[in-house]
Amino acid sequence: MKKCVQCGLPETYETIEFDDAGVCNICQQQQYKQGVIDWSARKVMLDELIEQYRGKYDYDCLVPFSGGKDSTFTLYHLVKEYKLKPLVVQFNHGFMRPGLLENNERTFKKLGVDVISFTPNWKVVKRLMREALVRKGDFCWHCHTGIFAYPMHLAIKFKVPLVFWGEPSSEYTAYYDYRDDAIEEVDESRFNRFVNLGITSDDMKGMIEKDFDLDPRDLIPYSYPAMRDLKQLRYRSVCLGSFIPWDVKTQSKLIMDELGWKGDEVEGMPPGLYSYEKIECAMQGVRDYLKFLKRGYSRVTQMTALDIRNGRLDKDSADKLVAEWEGKKPPSLELFLEFLDMSEGEFNAIVEKLVVPPYEPEFQTIQWGKKTHDFDRWYRESKDKP
Ligand SMILES: [Zn+2]
Repeated sequence: MKKCVQCGLPETYETIEFDDAGVCNICQQQQYKQGVIDWSARKVMLDELIEQYRGKYDYDCLVPFSGGKDSTFTLYHLVKEYKLKPLVVQFNHGFMRPGLLENNERTFKKLGVDVISFTPNWKVVKRLMREALVRKGDFCWHCHTGIFAYPMHLAIKFKVPLVFWGEPSSEYTAYYDYRDDAIEEVDESRFNRFVNLGITSDDMKGMIEKDFDLDPRDLIPYSYPAMRDLKQLRYRSVCLGSFIPWDVKTQSKLIMDELGWKGDEVEGMPPGLYSYEKIECAMQGVRDYLKFLKRGYSRVTQMTALDIRNGRLDKDSADKLVAEWEGKKPPSLELFLEFLDMSEGEFNAIVEKLVVPPYEPEFQTIQWGKKTHDFDRWYRESKDKP
């Protein structure tokens, strides 16, 4: 496969393009972020935005919160630097790990914030996971749509027009380019551009209602609210990372020091190195494994590429990490297959149809990866079976 000469991302990476020298567009927009964007002017924009909304509603802003490093830093920054009163909204995708729940409790108590946590119907979640896996090879439709749509419903219900997300998507992809020098609006067009994988909740209804006892209201949490309601609210929905330069390592260290936030081991990742990344979900290992089967790279490549771009890792060390860690079968696959009542053969057959050329997966030679320390505490369904 063709790879970026600078960061190593392969040609199967979403939105990637290469220049004549073989450098990818993600690397190019990163140089723009570091060299050209006037971050002090952006900070002034942020100050003005916040002052427009401060003290005028029951809450100054709404913060959608997963408990990962980005939303934790966002909440920390808004409460500590700006002294805002936020409404924290947590969409529970059904796979929150024990360490994450402990982090969340500590963060909420230390910062002193109001929190609403919402958990959708598990039976619906499982059916949505199966459908999205079969259609797109990406079972996370319920989570991505829920995380981005549900807080907007609460923004309307509680009349909180200012919504703050964390990391802008330009950190990883080129759906929105730092070089456009525009503020990324986290709105319905962004939702439809890549969050929902091209499947609206209406589409989803049509796909599953024949074999699933669906109440149409079951899909409300996954549907973007009506535009007229959002317009009436005069909402702004933006990423904090569009206004201050996003730096995950520095920010992770800050929340560890200030809030006692803890990283965790993640299936398929070198332990210790990236323990601040993607600790939210017990199914992250399956998600990364799927990406590897479809595109021939996983999050080890993605994370080392980011480090290379930020001048923190050399290409040789990155290649070694990728060779050692990438492409192992995660133990969580067993739980995942139980949830979906699916065999591994069926899973592989689905994935095989969705592989992104020129990559070709070799299912036979794949080895099992290691269990994480908390694996035995993750919810599983086989325990309930006789
Ligand atoms: Zn690159």
